[in-house]
Amino acid sequence: MSDTPFDQLDGLIWYDGKMVDWRDAKIHVLSHALHYGSCVFEGERVYGGKIFKLREHTERLRDSGKILGFDLPYTVEEIDQACIDCCEANGIVDGYVRPVAWRGSEMMGVSAQATKIHVAIAVWPWPSYFSPEARMRGIRLQTAKWRRPAPDTAPVHAKASGLYMICTMSKHRAEDEGFDDALMLDWEGRIAESTGSNIFIVMGDDKLHTPIPDCFLDGITRRSVIELAKQRQIEVIERRIMPEELETATEIFVTGTAAEVTPVGEIDGRKFTVGTITKTLMDDYDALVGNKRESAASAA
Ligand code: PMP
Repeated sequence: MSDTPFDQLDGLIWYDGKMVDWRDAKIHVLSHALHYGSCVFEGERVYGGKIFKLREHTERLRDSGKILGFDLPYTVEEIDQACIDCCEANGIVDGYVRPVAWRGSEMMGVSAQATKIHVAIAVWPWPSYFSPEARMRGIRLQTAKWRRPAPDTAPVHAKASGLYMICTMSKHRAEDEGFDDALMLDWEGRIAESTGSNIFIVMGDDKLHTPIPDCFLDGITRRSVIELAKQRQIEVIERRIMPEELETATEIFVTGTAAEVTPVGEIDGRKFTVGTITKTLMDDYDALVGNKRESAASAA
């Protein structure tokens, strides 16, 4: 990506049912979403012209809106088609798709019953979330001070923009201190996830352990990787995992639409190797989504 700000790129954005010029896709400063966080979004990747798990992402967008108390003014089919049209209109064959839905400016206050729901979709080229070097050696994580909130204190299963406030703060602190990203614990001190990805841990038993997504997003990539592991006869154990257990961890990786499968090389100074299970699942995930890049196993 160039350093051009995102509002200054060229292209077309699908905005409330129409394709508009990229630079004209604006909102008013008195939009409810901006003041009160009434906004949900998705992140999808298009590989070789096909959006991976498009329907699941659109359904999650619809469900996130419902959790926040609003219905999208378009059907799932219409939004699927708009995502596809948007890729075509911008000539994006490999890239990132960002649908977003938010409350407009008809009311300004906590109550927002009569606000119009807007939907927009933007697409752009986006190679790798972490640098190729970070992907090879494994990213460095720092445990965040902020914790994922308890399920009865926030809409934890929605991909809601307000939930990312503590993610940005945690990731900034990690980056300022030389790390790539932050590892977030939950309200009970258990390992939860990273700021934009889920986490998997290979313990000494060569089984794959991953936290139960009871207070954070059950990622679409997470579910795909669990299936891939099962196809490889790798046992997956979903359970509550405490940070002290990292002492017996041998391999760690994170999963997400943006992160794909990315190895973790370090957490707070403790080192991990980019091992066989991680490399196998990196390659299996690339094969599943149709991502053509050098095999992680053979590049080692
Ligand atoms: N957790 C958070 C906080 C995220 O932002 C994401 C990315 N959407 C994930 C997990 C992974 O979700 P997915 O695999 O569906 O992209």
